[in-house]
Amino acid sequence: MKGRDRGVANYDWVSKFPAATVRHLHCHSSDHRPISLVFNPNNESQRWFRKPFCFEEIWLSDNGCSDMVNCIKSISVSIRASEDLLIWPQTPDGSYTVRSAYRMLAMASHNAQLGTSNLNTSKKLWSGIWKLQVPSKVRHFMWRASGEALPTRSNLRYRHVLVDGTCNLCEDHPEDAMHCLWMYDYVKCIWLSDPTFNFPRAKCFNNFCDLVLFVLSEATSSTAALFAMVAWCIWVRPNKLREGQQVWDVSDTIQRAWDL
Ligand SMILES: [Zn+2]
Repeated sequence: MKGRDRGVANYDWVSKFPAATVRHLHCHSSDHRPISLVFNPNNESQRWFRKPFCFEEIWLSDNGCSDMVNCIKSISVSIRASEDLLIWPQTPDGSYTVRSAYRMLAMASHNAQLGTSNLNTSKKLWSGIWKLQVPSKVRHFMWRASGEALPTRSNLRYRHVLVDGTCNLCEDHPEDAMHCLWMYDYVKCIWLSDPTFNFPRAKCFNNFCDLVLFVLSEATSSTAALFAMVAWCIWVRPNKLREGQQVWDVSDTIQRAWDL
């Protein structure tokens, strides 16, 4: 299904443009349908006026509303007269932080990809990656790699940017995070050059997320941090090369990760 953009408006805005509506336009070459904001669809802007929500007393005696009324009555209210407060549920002290909002959104998109049954896996992964003693750009990279959110060929194909998601170096495998960062022959040589990373080699992993979870649970925190740094170096090296920047020799990748 094509991605549908949506419009969001607050009550003040809606009361100024009561008949405004959002229409989805057709398009063929993007995975998004553009939206068009129509202020006055049938010249009927004054025909109705949306009332802000308020609770009507009559609902208390209406049987159809009994569930909702009982639910509201069950909320215990403080006996002291105090102002209502806005509470942000994503932090222990209820105050909003950008970091907690970022975390909430990142978790939501990750869970959408993994499916809700894997919520615990996702939480474990998030807290493990967040604890890594590495620069935050590397943590973000690890999070995106684990959720198959890197611009690999496989992912670009999934998003209809490319027709073919096969790795164009070996022309043999789909180029997903697992292939780019762990399985591809030349990448494998990098990992094998340091015996520290022999321990996950005996195991088979379905995807990069499983590999990261394994490393987070089995390795010491310094090995896990080095793992993340090496993966990051493997990921950025080809991009740096493409941009004509100076890069380290492939065989020095692990040393490079140590140095960073
Ligand atoms: Zn390949």
